[in-house]
Amino acid sequence: MSLIQKVIKVLLPTRWVAAIEAQSRQWVMRCACGHEISIWDAGGIRFKAAGKPRRWARCPRCGFTWHRIEKRTS
Ligand SMILES: [Zn+2]
Repeated sequence: MSLIQKVIKVLLPTRWVAAIEAQSRQWVMRCACGHEISIWDAGGIRFKAAGKPRRWARCPRCGFTWHRIEKRTS
């Protein structure tokens, strides 16, 4: 678990943390090759956010590339 995730677990009520985790798991970072990882698994949080920003992140296949942040459709 990342530092930010530990911090929110300490600071926020449990049900808030559960809601933030659930939302963060719905968002994924997707590499151009198709590999995707949830924001939560990548150590981040995403809550009440919209839009499709891009983030510089490491893909296990490609190394560091731009990843698109998208809401999981399934
Ligand atoms: Zn990739």
